[in-house]
Amino acid sequence: MSLPTRNNPYSFNEFLEWRKNVDYYADDPFIQKVVKHYCGDEWQKVDEEARSVSKKASFRWRDMAESIAWPEKRPYMMHYDGHHNRIDRIVRPRETEIMEREIFSEAFFSDHTSPWVKLIKMFIIYQNGEACVSCPITCTEGMVEMIKKYPDTPEIKDILQHCQEGIDGVFAIGAQYLSEIQGGSDVPSNLLEAVQEGDTWKLYGTKFFCSATHADYAMVTAKPVGSEDVALFVIPSWLPGNKEKEIRNGYTIDRIKWKMGTSELTTGELTFNGAVAYPVGPLNRGVANVAGVVLSYSRLTVGISAASFMTRAAREAKKYVQFREAFGVKTGQFPLVMSQLNAIEKLAKQTVAGAFKLYRDFLSLEGGLQGGLAKDQDISIRKKRFMIRELIMLQKITASWDSTDVIRTAMSLFGGHGVMEDFSALPRLYRDSAVNELWEGPRNVLLVQMHRDFQRASEWYLPAEFIAELLKGAEPKTIFEFAKEFVVLISYPSLLQMSDETIAVCEQWDQFCHKLYHCYQSLAMKEVESDV
Ligand SMILES: Cc1cc2nc3c(=O)[nH]c(=O)nc-3n(C[C@H](O)[C@H](O)[C@H](O)COP(=O)(O)OP(=O)(O)OC[C@H]3O[C@@H](n4cnc5c(N)ncnc54)[C@H](O)[C@@H]3O)c2cc1C
Repeated sequence: MSLPTRNNPYSFNEFLEWRKNVDYYADDPFIQKVVKHYCGDEWQKVDEEARSVSKKASFRWRDMAESIAWPEKRPYMMHYDGHHNRIDRIVRPRETEIMEREIFSEAFFSDHTSPWVKLIKMFIIYQNGEACVSCPITCTEGMVEMIKKYPDTPEIKDILQHCQEGIDGVFAIGAQYLSEIQGGSDVPSNLLEAVQEGDTWKLYGTKFFCSATHADYAMVTAKPVGSEDVALFVIPSWLPGNKEKEIRNGYTIDRIKWKMGTSELTTGELTFNGAVAYPVGPLNRGVANVAGVVLSYSRLTVGISAASFMTRAAREAKKYVQFREAFGVKTGQFPLVMSQLNAIEKLAKQTVAGAFKLYRDFLSLEGGLQGGLAKDQDISIRKKRFMIRELIMLQKITASWDSTDVIRTAMSLFGGHGVMEDFSALPRLYRDSAVNELWEGPRNVLLVQMHRDFQRASEWYLPAEFIAELLKGAEPKTIFEFAKEFVVLISYPSLLQMSDETIAVCEQWDQFCHKLYHCYQSLAMKEVESDV
């Protein structure tokens, strides 16, 4: 019963007060348990670092991320200065620059930062969405890991030092420019031309999706003149001494895209007209190195950022249904609401556990990631490297897909307020999540890649053995069922030949991969829950 009154006293303050004071790590017993379980001997150090970074990410950086998300604060281009010099300055809010400086000072990729500490910092910081830092952190990692394998020249060594340890306290930011107007998935179709002029390589042509355009360096794919092979290069955005003068390294930023998500970050369309570039690795190994190393790191990070987004969405939805009332009861008292909340909480938790389990396996991989399919002499290492490669793709497609679903469900639990950009961060996370699904290899491309990989590896890694290893710890019946379906799907010759039958197999393959990774995640959850 409610009688009319002209002074409606309703307020969200109780919920807002809770939300304002949430510490992403200290107030999340589940992630603490995950850290304790998966980080081995190091867990106390990881826990300590997590508590420290969470004090910044949960409050100061959260507020900054929210503030720069307003449409009027979006970055914009200033192509020329007042004296008609082409500068292509990306104008970003001061808050973005301050937050970026503070976050990159966490020295994620320093030799003094352990991989687990780096991972937990990412997990916590990514709860604030893209915020013009998530993509740059990811791209910098891929670049660092790639050039670490080929520190062949003084220029590359300097770039590595700048990204890993910083110069005068400033840590460099990396980007990755692969996609061209005619194709993003199809990197071998790249047309950007690389020309050797004397001792120097220079790039000519265009790239169509260049995120983190403000970065100091970028990995760029291009074909040496006369070759069909794609090579990998690193370019500085400004040659030494030119950053202050705003003279870019032989390229222009033609425009920045207007996009649905990750809007605090620019994605540019670039024309190269003689950009100085340094080759990274053999000139005929660009595609293998990009897919095997650079993109694999980015895909791993998409998994962890999906876990972060979901964690925040589920946490805020849970509190909201405990606060909000409808028809005289808390909305959390409605069984339908509870069933949806339970589902997203479960998915969020299993995504976190799966990401940490995969990272543990990844860290124990001798020699790290490599370009192309594993060719190690030692068959057990070869199998392990293959397993990690495939799990990274499985995680990428599953976690990024689930993330968007989880956030949408969380928004729906907020009712109409769920879609209000100034009510919560959920709409922004939702838009960012949709982008996560697309970059670093869209779903279909990875599904086809995995199918091809399994066929090629099946001679030395029997499909049933692969499934048994991936699902180690599951019920024998579960392993048997998955293996049976897997063997049939892998025996289908190609997912690329158009027919009704292939379309049906593709549909089944898509669902199978999702289900398989969910099973891996639920085993990861079981491991965490088995700890007392
Ligand atoms: C916000 C944003 C930022 C980005 N930033 C960058 C960046 O910084 N650097 C960069 O290099 N790229 C970037 N990208 C590009 C992104 O990586 C590409 O969009 C992606 O690789 C897909 O390429 P495409 O858009 O050309 O799609 P297409 O390749 O045209 O694909 C279209 C559809 O066809 C499917 N498809 C393609 N090939 C196959 C196949 N063999 N089998 C089955 N299905 C297939 C795809 O899955 C997709 O569904 C960005 C994208 C977005 C959205």
